[in-house]
Amino acid sequence: MNKQAISKPTGKPYPRRCSECGQVAVHLAKVQYAARIKHDGKLHEFNISELPIDRCAACGEEFFTNVSSDAKSDALREHLGLLQPARIRELLAEHKLTQRKFAAHLRVAEESVSRWLNGLSIQSRALDTLMRIYFVNGEVRKLLASDEPICIKAGEPAGSAEVIGVWGRRH
Ligand SMILES: [Zn+2]
Repeated sequence: MNKQAISKPTGKPYPRRCSECGQVAVHLAKVQYAARIKHDGKLHEFNISELPIDRCAACGEEFFTNVSSDAKSDALREHLGLLQPARIRELLAEHKLTQRKFAAHLRVAEESVSRWLNGLSIQSRALDTLMRIYFVNGEVRKLLASDEPICIKAGEPAGSAEVIGVWGRRH
């Protein structure tokens, strides 16, 4: 088993040539896979029932592909209950938001948003939560649409958070 190997290019039609035995006998296979993935500083262990991999019918060698690694990322997002890239795209379209605007509202780099949308990185649970709160709550969207910091004044009831400009201006 050579699961570290990446067969390239992934767009090539099957059967592909096996880098182990040289036979053109590599086909797509779906395997059960015990994933152990580190995310957010924690190791997550869970089963993926049908992970797509490449398998050589001649020598039995199995290869991870880019498709496998995308599937692993999707499975991790699902395991952790994180928004999938396609869902974030839909939400941006629904709210007529550009990546740049959304990134500014969330106080993250535009590059981060781009990487989430392209599946190149997985958002932290904290940022996933912020995104959800942003999308479900118009007041939150209004607050975050401003560049100004949000001040929560001590001793006031919940819901009194407002944009007041520079920290402390109205204290
Ligand atoms: Zn082979």
